[in-house]
Amino acid sequence: MRAMALTQAGRGRLDAVNIDVPEPQADEMRVKVLACGVCRTDLHVVDGELSDPAVPIVPGHEIVGRVDAVGRDVTAHEPGDRVGIPWLGWSCGRCEFCRADRENLCRQARYTGYQINGGYAEYAVAHASFCFPIPEGYDDVHAAPLLCAGLIGYRAYRMAGPGARIGIYGFGAAAHIIAQVALHQDREVYAFVSPGDDRAIAFARELGAAWAGYSTTAPPHSLDAAIIFAPVGALVPEALSRISPGGIVVCAGIHMSDIPSFPYRLLWEERTVRSVANLTRRDAREFLALAKEVPIRTYVRPYSLDDANNALSDLRGGRLSGAAVLVP
Ligand SMILES: [Zn+2]
Ligand SMILES: [Zn+2]
Repeated sequence: MRAMALTQAGRGRLDAVNIDVPEPQADEMRVKVLACGVCRTDLHVVDGELSDPAVPIVPGHEIVGRVDAVGRDVTAHEPGDRVGIPWLGWSCGRCEFCRADRENLCRQARYTGYQINGGYAEYAVAHASFCFPIPEGYDDVHAAPLLCAGLIGYRAYRMAGPGARIGIYGFGAAAHIIAQVALHQDREVYAFVSPGDDRAIAFARELGAAWAGYSTTAPPHSLDAAIIFAPVGALVPEALSRISPGGIVVCAGIHMSDIPSFPYRLLWEERTVRSVANLTRRDAREFLALAKEVPIRTYVRPYSLDDANNALSDLRGGRLSGAAVLVP
């Protein structure tokens, strides 16, 4: 089968390869990939910013696929089902974290497109119990961004607490999904974009943001919480300076540049800074049900599989509104 693979750690680009169609083990299933979203984490993998990727590796963890073969122990899915395969590819089920419904923190967890070959390919294999039915009403391409931008974005959103005014730094794939959830729940969204990115401002306003401006400017009100999707550590003190006492700043990315030192008064008055790591299957079930209820509309730009490097460079260069999706 055709696939786009990282063949050397930190190489910064993918190579077109021809590899064997993978065979599912007893608890796994194989899907024919219908669409696979391009996530910023894929960029971190390709650019060597995360430690320990398996190499060679096929990236891609927002996979919409049609089940094509199942292992002998798989009962929850059958050939023909349309399923989503997310970032969390497997967790041990036995450790203190797994037993406490915090499988996102499992030390032995394995991740799709990082330690397990992902969806930048014609076929992918996944552990069946970590896959989900795709909600009705979404075609393959529009469903793909729900599987990471949506799921992990939703986990970050939940961690931001119930405040009415929520700031979002970095208005890309995750932000455009989470903004729709926040508006559906009658909250106000304040969108912060890279200075000069007027297209992102227009996109945020089109989606219903109460305010949109450069990340260096003050919003008209102080905020109850802020979620940082951009991988920029300098935004942490910036966001802290915009939230009210008791407010929360959530760092939602898997990688961020160093956070500069900042005066303690920015954290004073019970402000919180926290990170969000990965996702649990509960997040996935909750979010996919919510996506259908809102209903969330995703904005996508399709690319062919062979064009994966262009999709990655458009994401790297901030040239996307919404999400890039590969269609094999
Ligand atoms: Zn575990
Ligand atoms: Zn992702």
